Amino acid sequence: MTTAASTTSPARPLTGPQKALLKLGLRRDIDLALHLPLRYEDETRITRLSEARDGEVVQIEVMVTASEVTLRPRRQLLVTVDDGSDTCTLRFFSFYPSQQQALAPGKRIRARGELRGGFLGWQMLHPSFQAAGGELPQALTPVYPTSAGLPQAYLRRAVQNGLARAELADTIPTEDLKKIGPQPLWGLKSSLSFLHHPAPDVALATLEDRSHPAWQRLKAEELLAQQLSQLQARRARAGLLAPVLAPQPGPGAGLADRLQAALPFALTGAQRRVQAEIAGDLGRPVPMHRLLQGDVGAGKTVVAALAAALCIDAGRQCALMAPTEILAEQHFAKLVGWLEPLGVKTAWLTGSQKPKERRAMLALIASGEAALVVGTHAVIQDKVLFHQLALAIIDEQHRFGVAQRLALRAKLSAEAQEPHLLMMTATPIPRTLAMSYYADLDVSTLDELPPGRTAIVTKVVNESRRDEVVERIRGQLVAGRQIYWVCPLIEESEALDLSNATQTHAHLSAALPGVLVGLLHSRLTAPEKKAVMAQFTSGQMGVLVSTTVIEVGVDVPNASLMVIEHAERFGLSQLHQLRGRVGRGAAASACVLLYSTGDAPRLGETARERLKAMAETGDGFEIARRDLEIRGPGEFLGARQSGAALLRFADLATDSALLAWARQLAPELLDQHPTQAERHVARWLGAKSEYLKA
Ligand code: ADP
Ligand code: MG
Repeated sequence: MTTAASTTSPARPLTGPQKALLKLGLRRDIDLALHLPLRYEDETRITRLSEARDGEVVQIEVMVTASEVTLRPRRQLLVTVDDGSDTCTLRFFSFYPSQQQALAPGKRIRARGELRGGFLGWQMLHPSFQAAGGELPQALTPVYPTSAGLPQAYLRRAVQNGLARAELADTIPTEDLKKIGPQPLWGLKSSLSFLHHPAPDVALATLEDRSHPAWQRLKAEELLAQQLSQLQARRARAGLLAPVLAPQPGPGAGLADRLQAALPFALTGAQRRVQAEIAGDLGRPVPMHRLLQGDVGAGKTVVAALAAALCIDAGRQCALMAPTEILAEQHFAKLVGWLEPLGVKTAWLTGSQKPKERRAMLALIASGEAALVVGTHAVIQDKVLFHQLALAIIDEQHRFGVAQRLALRAKLSAEAQEPHLLMMTATPIPRTLAMSYYADLDVSTLDELPPGRTAIVTKVVNESRRDEVVERIRGQLVAGRQIYWVCPLIEESEALDLSNATQTHAHLSAALPGVLVGLLHSRLTAPEKKAVMAQFTSGQMGVLVSTTVIEVGVDVPNASLMVIEHAERFGLSQLHQLRGRVGRGAAASACVLLYSTGDAPRLGETARERLKAMAETGDGFEIARRDLEIRGPGEFLGARQSGAALLRFADLATDSALLAWARQLAPELLDQHPTQAERHVARWLGAKSEYLKA
């Protein structure tokens, strides 16, 4: 295949613009063809100066009548031009001698720019220009997204060449295209040609909102590529072998049954259903790839423990990974409490471990003596060698970056047999996202909270009423309850974060004499954090002031009030997760969202929307839906840092019909026209398809 870079001989180093093209990911002809304009300029018409309007961007064809360089107020080239109907002054603050020559009196030029009327008549500042004459273009001129060192004119030529050379034969059967909708069908090639060079009479609004049939075609293509690649991944996995993790036959109950019998509570109906779904997967010789979603407090941990028990009972190892040390530690404590009495040995792995302890743990894992391994992402590091890993569980999977998720995949597939994978999240995935980015996953949902939970009343309170909040804390303490106070996240400055938390801690300690007020923040060492958490968990500590380190998974049922300071600075899912720390016991629980408008008279629009959503609903699915609306899928999926656009053309909010179409077509195409399907994925995703599976 011809590539943009290979048009020069390999011996010659790449020029600046060529490098810039590669940096933009414009490698193949098809990449260039799919690099669509940001907007268009109309160069198809010449406007007469006498008919122009102030502020209009126009193209004029004129004769230069005078040209001079003045030095005051600053050095500039002033060129007077005339088109027979009126005159205009072109003004340049920087110019080359060659440009000055091209603008000498007597030259005829075509200039384009914004026309400004004024006391001195028409003016244009730094217009683009060329020699007059020549044919006017028939189509609008594309303006492409570009980067430093890549001039628009160079990019236009490169795209034009790419478009001319790219192989653009349709990969989608016509009868399937007809199912897209009532609009007339456009081929891929004609859609692209049109979007790069639309006819001047096009309704620009249909290009801007991407409702034009050419846009519809491209969005449908893109969504189909995504569905196909996910389906390929799913089928590839179905061809892999995984260990069968079924209860052992023979006398006596299996480990999972014994664990269930030993629990201090009965499973909810939802937990039983989900457990059966997972057990079904684990009983098959094909790797499980399942997402367990359930609102904060729905009881995912015990479901994970039961899955681990099935795995361990089959004589294999299970690893559980959590995004933060505190959370991993809580899991560890809980799982050890449940499983060690049943004879299961558990290893603990984290980045902050002492080398000696770490070596001991690694040995336990390598020998297989530890049947269960719990930890942070330290679990997927190269040095960790499992004896026979058969099940990997990732808690709060969305909190792991894309790179870590890819590393996990690599690690898992390095095992002799493919392990089963269970991911858990408290941020439910809205339907359209589940259908697109997570089409490669089976999803189980815990849609029922354990009994006896009380609804959490959420109040949005202005910072000026802080004293009333402290009164309320006093009341809760008297009733024997505990309180979380979460301090703001200041992204740019960990130091500021800390000083704020320290101040709040001092203030509350003074306001609440005789009460143990603790402070938890990221600067503490792991043992210090552990000591603070232990005091809070045991009930000794009345109030825990904390930065967001407690965000996920911390479980203290006696805590009934959560105060979140500067709530306006938190994201919606984050607020919901934080709020989920209370309402876990029988006592009525509340969450106070303290906000401050700073120097502004009122809160910003999105902050207001977030706090409103929090006050209006406690339903994690509704929160997730609104969060997606506010943030868009890139950030929602945690892919923002990677800089890679997930879907470039389609928008899940508006294109759900196209998504449904693509979802239905993908399996048909893969079965009936496999080579076309391959071509389609290669064309659209190229090297990116791995990324989409992360
Ligand atoms: P999450 O889904 O947020 O991870 P956890 O697994 O931490 O929730 O569970 C929250 C709390 O509910 C824990 O204290 C857990 O022991 C308890 N729990 C879980 N399942 C049940 C149940 N069926 N009945 C009563 N309590 C339960
Ligand atoms: Mg949890």
